[in-house]
Amino acid sequence: MSKGTLYIVSAPSGAGKSSLISALLENNPTYAMKVSVSHTTRDMRPGEVNGVHYNFVAVEEFKALIDEGAFLEFAEVFGNYYGTSRPWIEENLDKGIDVFLDIDWQGARQIRKQMPEARSIFILPPSRPELERRLNTRGQDSEEVIAKRMSEARSEISHYNEYDYVIVNDDFDVAVMDMKAILRAERLKEAKQAVKHANMLDCLLAEE
Ligand code: GDP
Ligand code: ADP
Ligand code: 5GP
Repeated sequence: MSKGTLYIVSAPSGAGKSSLISALLENNPTYAMKVSVSHTTRDMRPGEVNGVHYNFVAVEEFKALIDEGAFLEFAEVFGNYYGTSRPWIEENLDKGIDVFLDIDWQGARQIRKQMPEARSIFILPPSRPELERRLNTRGQDSEEVIAKRMSEARSEISHYNEYDYVIVNDDFDVAVMDMKAILRAERLKEAKQAVKHANMLDCLLAEE
């Protein structure tokens, strides 16, 4: 069995990363895929569940985890800390499971340095007014938080050219198909196919 692929997904807040990743995971019973649950120091939103959407921790606990080397990457985003658990990621990739990271551009840079084989995808909203509309309709952040996220959007978007793939999330179903196309092509790479079809290739290449 070959190792799972690590997918880094970034976007300005509200572009639809979480919705796209959820749609991908829900509609694909065929393949083993999981989304990494980050640690964060931000406040829990209504409807969020500890351990499902994030592991919510206090700042002191987060700092202790940094000192223990528990994070593959961590960053400060919108004034809160966010980090990706190292052992969980390695364990799942070793089992052949594809893992999705919903992280910002700073985290993406740290991961690429350590794991150059990771694939990265940037999600763009079709326009700024539409991004603002989505942040408002999500209805989970205060006006102040939304204003902060809108003002940070340009800076996040300015890093789009550091990613392997760019998807415009205008029509949601089209964006899901685009994500699936990336995953599918990745699984057709020679190195993965050689492992998956080792027996078949042995037969095909056997001398008469
Ligand atoms: P479709 O059902 O007509 O879209 O047939 P496809 O050949 O596109 O896909 C067959 C199944 O595999 C469907 O359940 C797809 O959702 C799933 N699938 C196709 N491509 C991918 C992919 O790249 N990644 C994952 N995870 N699932 C895929
Ligand atoms: P992110 O994880 O990038 O912050 P979300 O997945 O929470 O973004 O999406 C933000 C809001 O926009 C949600 O209310 C979601 O339902 C909505 N949304 C996502 N994609 C689309 C789309 N293509 N068209 C319209 N609304 C969308
Ligand atoms: P939100 O608070 O909307 O869930 O996420 C805010 C931002 O933090 C998003 O850009 C998201 O991608 C990023 N983020 C979430 N988890 C992590 C993480 O573990 N590491 C890093 N670097 N960024 C993260």
